[in-house]
Amino acid sequence: MSARVIDRVIGEIDRAVDEIVAFACELVRIPTVNPPGEAYEPCARLIGNHLARRGFDIEYITAEGRPEHTSRYPRVNVVGARRGSTRGPVVHFNGHTDVVPAGDGWTVEPFGGLVRDGRIYGRGACDMKAGLAAAIFAAEALRRADVSLAGAIEISGTVDEESGGFAGVAWLAERGRIARGRTDYVIIPEPLNVDRICIGHRGVYWFELTLRGRIAHGSMPFLGVSAIDAMAHVVEMIRTGLQPALERRSTTMPVVPDAARHATINVNGLEGGQAIDGIQTPCVADRCRAVFDRRFLLEEGLDDVRREIEELVGRAVASLDGVTSEMRDLMIVHPVMTPDGSPLVDALDRAIRRVLGRPARLVASPGTYDHKHVARIAGIPHCVAYGPGELELAHQPDEWCGIDDLVHATKVMAAATLDLMGIVAG
Ligand SMILES: [Zn+2]
Repeated sequence: MSARVIDRVIGEIDRAVDEIVAFACELVRIPTVNPPGEAYEPCARLIGNHLARRGFDIEYITAEGRPEHTSRYPRVNVVGARRGSTRGPVVHFNGHTDVVPAGDGWTVEPFGGLVRDGRIYGRGACDMKAGLAAAIFAAEALRRADVSLAGAIEISGTVDEESGGFAGVAWLAERGRIARGRTDYVIIPEPLNVDRICIGHRGVYWFELTLRGRIAHGSMPFLGVSAIDAMAHVVEMIRTGLQPALERRSTTMPVVPDAARHATINVNGLEGGQAIDGIQTPCVADRCRAVFDRRFLLEEGLDDVRREIEELVGRAVASLDGVTSEMRDLMIVHPVMTPDGSPLVDALDRAIRRVLGRPARLVASPGTYDHKHVARIAGIPHCVAYGPGELELAHQPDEWCGIDDLVHATKVMAAATLDLMGIVAG
């Protein structure tokens, strides 16, 4: 690839810094809060109108039929495509438009889009409206530099990533809009730090456990069987038996932080007996429910993960007279990992070396993100997360993204896109 062409593209990005920042701020000012899924349509329109002015063909794809798509909170996704001068690879940037609620503890207006001391502040500044702005201006810089490319660049803004992405990326993948054979490379500009490439995530197994005992008068608890006591026993067995075993299991995936390189389990919630806020009557709790979040490794299979839990619950219940149990799966996400030697990882690594002067670090995410839908539903192996902003700032009060980061990420995305698509004429 010609160094002269890259320098020209990078020059266009340097000239566009104010525009990039202004656009990221404009995105932050639309409060696309999820839940419930506020202002998705104006956000999709803002992105669509912007891309349309920059040579993209635009489609709005609404998740008609999904229960969360309502007239009050429509789930509107936008996809733009700009074709090159000849056939070639399709590079797709996908960013989610939703943000989590602002929460408490802010010292700036969460949806003000404030710029101060080289930072853009606001809910979604780093997760991940700066990433969307970076992708859009990476494509725009290629156009302004008048580079003729093979293939196509696509940019999508999708909804509901924070709540599972079913009306967003999963919806586009199920309808074949993002699909193997149609889409070659997917880059998700999540805030993973500007020199890191995220190649996947651990698996998720959420399940609900219900234990039943026998009701009796609370003054004579020995006549009943407490489901709360039984749940306490299960939780204790998890804490003293399962958890240490999980800590000894580690993955070869480069999950960050280090402590998440092991399998983990967390109790999301627990309820049993009478509602605390209601009127109390003296009763032994005959029912207790809890939801667990088990994160599993690429090296563990879901069947084994589930069997291990079932056996533990079975042992606990067998040791308690009069207790029965029931387990229900709530959510399953299998681990995903970009294959070794992926041309997408190589192209981003070269671009990071060029722009930042240091090699990329490969990481994997402790949680999940839309990669799962790209890999599992669309069947596209070459997918990574790469974008501006620091992971630790996501979902925090006073969330911000550094303008330096934003500009560097824009350059990296542009250079990687050039590399992947190939120059026809420049
Ligand atoms: Zn995100």
